Amino acid sequence: MSMTIGFIGLGNMGAPMALNLVKAGFRVQGFDTHVAARDVAQAGGVVLAATAEECTHGADVVITMLPSGPIMLSVWGDVIPAMKDGALIIDCSTVDIDSCRNAHDLAAGRGLAALDAPVSGGVGGAVAATLTFMVGGSTDAFARAQPLLAAMGRNLTHCGEAGAGQAAKICNNMILGISMIAVSEAFGLADKLGLSRQALFDVAAKSSGQCWSLTSYCPVPGPVPTSPANNGYKPGFAAALMLKDLRLSQAASEGTGAETPLGAAATSLYEAMVAEGDGGRDFSAIFERLSNGGA
Ligand code: NAD
Repeated sequence: MSMTIGFIGLGNMGAPMALNLVKAGFRVQGFDTHVAARDVAQAGGVVLAATAEECTHGADVVITMLPSGPIMLSVWGDVIPAMKDGALIIDCSTVDIDSCRNAHDLAAGRGLAALDAPVSGGVGGAVAATLTFMVGGSTDAFARAQPLLAAMGRNLTHCGEAGAGQAAKICNNMILGISMIAVSEAFGLADKLGLSRQALFDVAAKSSGQCWSLTSYCPVPGPVPTSPANNGYKPGFAAALMLKDLRLSQAASEGTGAETPLGAAATSLYEAMVAEGDGGRDFSAIFERLSNGGA
């Protein structure tokens, strides 16, 4: 496989994703503004570029994995003019719908194919190459990206045209934020009713209350040994990142007129959690706040 990939944003997610591309036999040229991130990637076989633009030299595909929409858009503005004709650009960051659409427009203005391809699965999924990719863009661009995405993930879904991947990510994570609070409230109520946590788990896991927040990521210690609740609520998925995604859902709701009252309530609860210094804890620690009356 002789394809060359430019990879911009070698942080917690980007570095292991880039390393999986190296392992799959791609030549990867990487850039990050942070020196420590560059060093980790270089140690894993990524060829370092001095600038984001330099990453694009000879690159068939450029991938970005950055903190926010405005940063992604600014990087796309810098690199798109430097990309070779016929190349493909893919953003894997989680960003707002407007930035995503503007980025697609920038690429289209240069005649380049583009995809939004945000992920779920966290750092563990990035390391293990088991990420889920939700992809927006043309069928042709999706087909071209598939070998790359398959080297970094396991489930690849083409969600529709430009922006559909981000839309899927934002909607999915709004479900997650709300459902984690729902499960946490139920355990808090069970405690007050004298119902054991294990009994609630055993019933709800096999009943209509069943959901991922309960059965894979249970917010109380005990029933699911691998959940962060058994590890002092070390992330996992930090509350600050959950808040970022919930805010994106609320911006999208405002922009479209969708009614998301529970999404709004979940956003407020995570805002309070982060404001009080718990943004670095796993988002399932919302259970402790609710049951301590701190929410
Ligand atoms: P991170 O902060 O660890 O990594 C982002 C990297 O981008 C950093 O290394 C930073 O130095 C670099 N960067 C910032 N501005 C830059 C620029 N102008 N040019 C080049 N590099 C620049 O964040 P992360 O956890 O890797 O997350 C990346 C994206 O993935 C975010 O959009 C996040 O919402 C999304 N995401 C994260 C997770 C997770 O569990 N961490 C899960 C799913 C999606």
